[in-house]
Amino acid sequence: MGRTRDAYESARARVVEEQLVRREVTEERVLAVMRRVPRHLFVEEALRNRAYGDHPLPIGEEQTISQPYIVGFMSQLLELTGQEKVLEVGTGSGYQTAVLAELARRVCSIERLPRLAERARALLEKLGYDNVWVRVGSGTLGWPDEAPVHWILVTAGGPSVPPPLFQQLAEGGRMVVPVGDAVNQVLTVVEKVHGEMKTRPCGECKFVKLVGKYAWEA
Ligand code: SAH
Repeated sequence: MGRTRDAYESARARVVEEQLVRREVTEERVLAVMRRVPRHLFVEEALRNRAYGDHPLPIGEEQTISQPYIVGFMSQLLELTGQEKVLEVGTGSGYQTAVLAELARRVCSIERLPRLAERARALLEKLGYDNVWVRVGSGTLGWPDEAPVHWILVTAGGPSVPPPLFQQLAEGGRMVVPVGDAVNQVLTVVEKVHGEMKTRPCGECKFVKLVGKYAWEA
């Protein structure tokens, strides 16, 4: 899925070598997907020539598409094999969603802003991703109909792990979530072991705010 041949192929190869491999994102399945998914299509046309830079970019509505490295790093932390159902909170541009769709069996993604959700849904469909469901809603409440899920990725930063998300995480499951204040967070791996929350910090990050009942106010 996704396009494999376009004018940005060499830019993606450079991203993989210079922004990912050098910073210890080395999982071959993740690298192959990041060489393939056409990130430039997930930003507006005027920003396309910056789509493969080592930074986030605005996507409208005061939100951003995450830096390529962060997308690669979070994807690697999930350790997907291709069989999984993944719950994503914060669809945004849909770029991380596309990467997950290539790494897992199915992706259920929630976005609170309808315009971003619509745009991402249309683009993902156009690119041929038929294993992705995008829903407008409040992601801190999770997606009860899909629970329990073994893999959850949150791509906006909240003050703590939203309890409904931990409840919906299956025993033995893993969640990757930025936790901190409104500006700086720690990328945290959360696992459910015998019903208990085990957390592991995996480095600092800066995400836009996770907004909702169990996070920041709008
Ligand atoms: N992975 C996306 C990140 C977009 S920024 C990308 O790379 O494009 C984070 C997104 O999370 C924003 O679009 C924001 O609107 C959304 N968001 C914030 N709080 C949310 C919540 N409670 N539920 C669902 N989406 C949320």
